[in-house]
Amino acid sequence: MKALAKTESKQGLWMIDAPLPQFGPNDLLIKIKITAICGTDVHIYNWDEWSQRTIPVPMITGHEFVGRIEDMGSEVTGFKRGDRVTGEGHLTCGHCRNCRAGKRHLCRNTQGIGVNRTGSFAEYLVLPAENAFKLDDFISDEAAAIFDPFGNAVHTALSFDLVGEDVLITGAGPIGIMAAAVARHAGARYVIITDVNEYRLNLARQMGVTRGVNIKTDKLEDVMSELHMLEGFDVGLEMSGNAQAQSQMFDKMNNGGHVALLGIPPGDSVVNWNQIIFKGLHLKGIYGREMYETWYKMAAMIRSGLDISRIITHRMPVDEFERGFEIMRGGQSGKILLYWD
Ligand code: NAD
Ligand code: ZN
Repeated sequence: MKALAKTESKQGLWMIDAPLPQFGPNDLLIKIKITAICGTDVHIYNWDEWSQRTIPVPMITGHEFVGRIEDMGSEVTGFKRGDRVTGEGHLTCGHCRNCRAGKRHLCRNTQGIGVNRTGSFAEYLVLPAENAFKLDDFISDEAAAIFDPFGNAVHTALSFDLVGEDVLITGAGPIGIMAAAVARHAGARYVIITDVNEYRLNLARQMGVTRGVNIKTDKLEDVMSELHMLEGFDVGLEMSGNAQAQSQMFDKMNNGGHVALLGIPPGDSVVNWNQIIFKGLHLKGIYGREMYETWYKMAAMIRSGLDISRIITHRMPVDEFERGFEIMRGGQSGKILLYWD
């Protein structure tokens, strides 16, 4: 089968001919239709320090996908051949304390497809059936292909009560923008998103944020006073991984505010603990998606009218993957889809 893999310890990804993956009694064999490029894939493509430390070579990359079940192991129940599925790319151990308590997103032994084990940038993917999510007809293939990052957005945004609240999102990447759409859908009052990238702020504005603020040219406090937000934000969602954005967020929170942190800083970053202490802020770190509450919430929000389709800005056949990665690296995109059929 065709697969996109890291086969050498240097920058790039290569289209290879790989053997069809073998599936065990509890696995599904999924024929991939669409995959999406994640920031993580770009890190792996670039072969940065994190990738060099983390990714064994060779490795078939990718973890955002939609496809159909081609075959399955003898023990699988609840699925049939031809079912349309996407799935959770974090494989959990099932025997640590958190797994046994039903908090699998907090598993200490999580393995990621396309990172620690064979990924979805391939014509076929083997995934444990318990990680698959069967798709109702009202969920399009393209939306399903980005359920993984949409899930990051949903998990983060729905961490706290949003109804009637003023929300600050730092970082208008695909996940930040989707989180903004989720916050609006869930009933937030004002949703303000910041970035330094005008292309992405425009995308956020098209997807219904109250204001997209370019912090290179505009002052967040001006926008806040224009909206008569005298006391600060109730909820903060950090989606940039940028230290400056993080400290701006703590600075602009109201006392007693809630902050969820998804963005991954590249190294150690300095935090003004006094802001957190004296404001009585509540912090929550976010990793992945809740298994599988987040997945049901994603489906429910699409069913109730949340439209995430505009976050997809580019589509191309997988043979043009180099162009897709180039566009991602330039930052002038939302989500980019690679079609395998
Ligand atoms: P992205 O890199 O596409 O988006 C980040 C955005 O932040 C960019 O548009 C960038 O211009 C913007 N930014 C940079 N400096 C800024 C500043 N000072 N103020 C405001 N915005 C600024 O990333 P993404 O795919 O949307 O993911 C968002 C973040 O979440 C990334 O840091 C990613 O690594 C992280 N992530 C975490 C998890 C998790 O499980 N915790 C999962 C997926 C992604
Ligand atoms: Zn576990």
